[in-house]
Amino acid sequence: MPRQFLDYCAGQRDWLLDFIAALVAIESPSDDPIAVNRCGAELAARLSALGAEVTRLPPSTPGLPTVALAKAGDHLRASFGQGPRQILLLGHFDTVWPIGQLKTMPLKRENGRLYGPGIFDMKAGIALATLATRAVMAEDGLDQCQVVMLWTTDEEIGSTTSRALIEAEAQRSEAVLVFEPSLPGGGLKTSRKGVGQFEMRVRGVSAHAGLDPGKGISAVRELARQIIAIDDLQDPASGVTVTVGVIEGGTRANVVPAEARAIIDARAVTRADADRVERAMTALVPQIAGAQITVTGGFDRPPLERTAAVAGLFAAAQAVAKNLGLTLEEGSAGGGSDGNFTAALGVPTLDGFGAVGDGAHALHEHIEIDALVPRAAVIAGLIARLTA
Ligand SMILES: [Zn+2]
Repeated sequence: MPRQFLDYCAGQRDWLLDFIAALVAIESPSDDPIAVNRCGAELAARLSALGAEVTRLPPSTPGLPTVALAKAGDHLRASFGQGPRQILLLGHFDTVWPIGQLKTMPLKRENGRLYGPGIFDMKAGIALATLATRAVMAEDGLDQCQVVMLWTTDEEIGSTTSRALIEAEAQRSEAVLVFEPSLPGGGLKTSRKGVGQFEMRVRGVSAHAGLDPGKGISAVRELARQIIAIDDLQDPASGVTVTVGVIEGGTRANVVPAEARAIIDARAVTRADADRVERAMTALVPQIAGAQITVTGGFDRPPLERTAAVAGLFAAAQAVAKNLGLTLEEGSAGGGSDGNFTAALGVPTLDGFGAVGDGAHALHEHIEIDALVPRAAVIAGLIARLTA
C-alpha cells in the first residue's frame, strides 16, 4: 500500500508544483479580506474540481457581531468521502506578507528550492494535504470516514474568527493533522508552547517635575518595578518565557508621568505552567503608594502537550514512514498554531505536516522540492491508516 502512494504522488509531482504556484501567486495577507477571498476562490475551485464538497464559512467570533469582523476573509471547509467518522486536515491560507511582496520575493525555483511569500507557511502544506487525499481516494472510496479540510484565513493574526469553527470541527474528528511548516529537516511537532499576551496599564499622578515633584506619582517608575517582577516569572528550565516586548509611558521630560503601559508575551509548555503565569500576572500589585495597575489578557493559545494520544498518532506516522524506507523525527516548537486549540480539547493532534523548508515570515522563505513527493506519500499512508 505505501509503495503505491509513493508512485501515485511521484506521478503527480508537476500537478503539485502547479497547485503550490497557483496559491502563492494570489497574495493573501490576513488583513485584506478581498485578497484573501481571491486566494480562497482559487483554492475552493481546485478542491471542488477534485470532487470535494466545499463550503465558504464567513468569519465569526462568538459574542461579536459579524459587522465587527469585516477585516477577515471567509474560511473554507472541504470534505471528501462519506461516512459517520471523520479526520481533520487543518491549516490556513492567510500569510504575513503584504500585497506586492511578490515583486521583491518572486516565485522562483533555484537549487532544488521553490521560493515565494507564504510558500512554506503554509500554502505548500495545503497542496500536500490535497495530493495525499487524492492518493488515498485513488485507492479507497472513503466511504467509512470522511477527510475534512479546514483552511482558515486568520491564523497569523490570532484565529479569533476561526477558533470556534476549528474547535467544533475538531470535536467531530478522530484525529487532526496540521499542515503548518515542518521542523528543520522535516520533523513533526508533537509539542508546541502555549502563547499568551498581556497588557499592563499603570496610572499615576502627573505633576511638574521641577515645581511639584512631590505631588506626582510616576507611572513609569511603577512600571519599571513591575517589569522586574514580571521578568521574575520566567523559568527557562521548564520552558516558561515571559518577555516585556513593548513599553510606553510619559509625555514630556519635565512632567512626572501619569500613564505607562507594557505589552507582554508569555509562553509555556504545559497547561499548569500557563495557568501559573496567568495567575501570577493578574495577582501583581502596585509597589508605589498611590499607583494603580490593571492587567488584561491571558493565554489565547493553550499549549499543545505531548499526551499519550499525540504520541500514539506520531507512532502511527512514524510506522508509515518506516514502511516507505523513510525516517520521521519529532520535536517541539516555541510558536503556537491552531493545533494548540484542537490538542487542548483532547483530540489527537499532530502538527508540522507541511513542506520541508525554511524561512517562515522571512525573505528567504522556501521549500525543498525533492522532499515534497515522499512527504505526500507518508501523509497519504497515514490518512489511509486513520480512515481505514
Ligand atoms: Zn502558519
